[in-house]
Amino acid sequence: MIRTNANGRNLLTSRLRNIAYKGLLSASLLAGLSVSAQAQTAWPHHAKAAIILTYDDALDSQLDNAIPALDSAGLKGTFFLSNVQQKDVPRWKAAAAKGHELGNHTIFHPCSKKDFPADPRFTSEAYTPASILKEIGQQNVLLTSLDGRDQHGFATPCGETRAGEVDYLEALRASHLVTYVRGVSTSAEDLRANVALVDPMHIPSRGFAEGTTTEQLIDFAKQAEIGHGWAVYLFHGIGGDHLQVSSAAHRGFIAWLRANRRDLWVTTLQGALDWAKAHPSPKG
Ligand SMILES: [Zn+2]
Repeated sequence: MIRTNANGRNLLTSRLRNIAYKGLLSASLLAGLSVSAQAQTAWPHHAKAAIILTYDDALDSQLDNAIPALDSAGLKGTFFLSNVQQKDVPRWKAAAAKGHELGNHTIFHPCSKKDFPADPRFTSEAYTPASILKEIGQQNVLLTSLDGRDQHGFATPCGETRAGEVDYLEALRASHLVTYVRGVSTSAEDLRANVALVDPMHIPSRGFAEGTTTEQLIDFAKQAEIGHGWAVYLFHGIGGDHLQVSSAAHRGFIAWLRANRRDLWVTTLQGALDWAKAHPSPKG
């Protein structure tokens, strides 16, 4: 980089060059990704990447809009349940029976009070590692009653792993209460990850906010396709509820995934992890 900035204009030019340079870097990085594809996960039917659609918080709009869209395309999603409503029990049971994955998102969804104002008893500050593990264990009982499975994955409420200011992630790992822990962020490396080698206590995901377009959803999948890894989507409301992605954007994306099913394997999060572990890449 040229660092002879005598005035603001030169500084601006330098910054623009910096941005362009970074753009070149990522382009060459992406080019390198396809070359190193042999060391990546060998997905079924030579698919280039796995696409995992996860939905948090047991929202009605997921039952009303997301699951019917997935079912009509023959695709499976992963639903992390908390605050389950009694009236929805039959529909969650039906979703599980169709092959959708149900995961643990605690019973009461405790988050730090500064991030998510709530009754003080249900903020993460009021918990201890022992009490959050007890709650996760109890939510497993509900999940087993819904899907008949004795093991479940977990998604952290608000992406946080603290209970009463203490990180509970390693205690959760040691407890064997859950098969994996999905967080709320994704790096470029995650998109090209050899999934068999990923720490199951640190599963990435990318959240999508209100106003997200079909094209933006497709773009994330294309990045995983280039990286020969996986893309884990995190949705909340679909055509309703909070942080909603519109039904139209979601449906458009589902249709695109269906059309691209030879290259992209849409599966549940547990399904992707199980496959990767059972089919390690020759180069490890
Ligand atoms: Zn949540």
